Amino acid sequence: MSHRDPAHASILIEGMRKNRVRVTSPRRAIVQVLEEAEDHLDVEEITERAKKIDASVHRATVYRTLDMLKRLHLVDELDLLHLRGDRHYYEVRSGGQHAHVICTRCGKVVEPRGEIMASCIDRLAEATGHRIDFYRLEAGGVCPDCEASD
Ligand SMILES: [Zn+2]
Ligand SMILES: [Zn+2]
Repeated sequence: MSHRDPAHASILIEGMRKNRVRVTSPRRAIVQVLEEAEDHLDVEEITERAKKIDASVHRATVYRTLDMLKRLHLVDELDLLHLRGDRHYYEVRSGGQHAHVICTRCGKVVEPRGEIMASCIDRLAEATGHRIDFYRLEAGGVCPDCEASD
């Protein structure tokens, strides 16, 4: 999930420019889709949405653009524990670091962020001696709603 501040220019476009990556119209469309997404999108969904902005977007362009954005550490790739098959999901890293807790029954994804994650990462840093610059945390289990409907 991304949380774009409308007062700021696109963080992804800025990152691409800083790395001297050409900002083509299809890439701009893909970036817009990623930054406006309210949920976690896979390649199919990104392609479908980006096509509506720029009809010249193809799935191959989406794959290549995502690879480039991953390499530049601008976008994270998630598998959400493969509970919905083999798909991968993409989100903008600058959206604020958070974990993904996935319900193994209904597939609902909760995204803890802020204080709880900060203290979690502090303890991890303490235990390992590492300075933690970023993390990817996915956990699976039954959500309270599914548990209650047993
Ligand atoms: Zn997320
Ligand atoms: Zn559930």
